[in-house]
Amino acid sequence: MLEIKNITKRFGEKTALEKLSFTVPEGSVFGLIGSNGSGKSTLLRIISGVFRPDEGSAEIDGECTFENPGVKEKCFFISDYPYYYNNSTVESLVNFYRDLYPTWNEEKYKKLCTIFPIGTKDRIVNMSKGMQRQAALMIALSVCPKYILLDEIFDGLDPVVRQLIKKLLMELVAENKTTVIIASHNLRELEDVCDHIGLIHKGGIVMEKELDEAKLGIHRIQAVFEEEKSEEFLKELDVVSLKKQGKMLMLTVKGDGQTIEEKIRAQKPVYMEMLPLTLEEVFISEMEAVGYDINNILEK
Ligand code: ADP
Ligand code: MG
Repeated sequence: MLEIKNITKRFGEKTALEKLSFTVPEGSVFGLIGSNGSGKSTLLRIISGVFRPDEGSAEIDGECTFENPGVKEKCFFISDYPYYYNNSTVESLVNFYRDLYPTWNEEKYKKLCTIFPIGTKDRIVNMSKGMQRQAALMIALSVCPKYILLDEIFDGLDPVVRQLIKKLLMELVAENKTTVIIASHNLRELEDVCDHIGLIHKGGIVMEKELDEAKLGIHRIQAVFEEEKSEEFLKELDVVSLKKQGKMLMLTVKGDGQTIEEKIRAQKPVYMEMLPLTLEEVFISEMEAVGYDINNILEK
């Protein structure tokens, strides 16, 4: 189990993470989402033991991750901007990681070499961003770590490779009970693989839930009334956003679906529909709920 306990991280005057706490259940695929600069990469660097938090701790199976080789053996981290030496090749990195990780699986590596179209003798610095990502993933998957931390892993990958990565990650979880933590702004991809999500905003956690539960807690409703409706009845609901076009209301409301439906039906709409939300819409609604004005940003 991974526990984030009351973590604060400052860079000079800037507080990147503030009193952040949550738990990632073992064997789950946890999507870390949040706007740019919200602190996702900083958190992954703390979990992997690269950064030391100013306060609090990241603990894996009850042990602090910072300067703890025993814990680091269980983790593999692919950062958003991995650093490679000028002459690094997949082969040279494999020679390094094979000795470093007791869980290294040579058979798996050989198999991945046939799946990924990557020259293992080619210099990594000369590869495209997407190819570099694939090279890093080949190694990460061959390590068969108990915890795998991936920062913006879908960046620069073509759709076929994105599908492949998702499939291979799912296999790793099934075979090895690996816990996966992926920070990404690609919500579409996260939606396919994650069972839990954590939303960070301004260095604090806004929401941490099972994905299905997050989707159940927020609803989009379209309702048409015979006459233009006073908005008075909406005061009983936790409305995140509201659009009104004459007799039609388009609402995003937090809370239990059945209760919301009953309250709106009591107003006798001539037409009403509850629409499912995608992860992207959940994200936007949750961000709006904390005062993040998406429309304002999109219009700029
Ligand atoms: P995200 O990955 O969610 O986009 P980051 O974790 O990269 O966000 O950054 C969070 C905040 O911390 C940003 O304001 C960023 O400028 C700041 N930050 C991150 N790393 C450093 C660093 N090494 N030095 C100074 N500020 C940093
Ligand atoms: Mg980042």
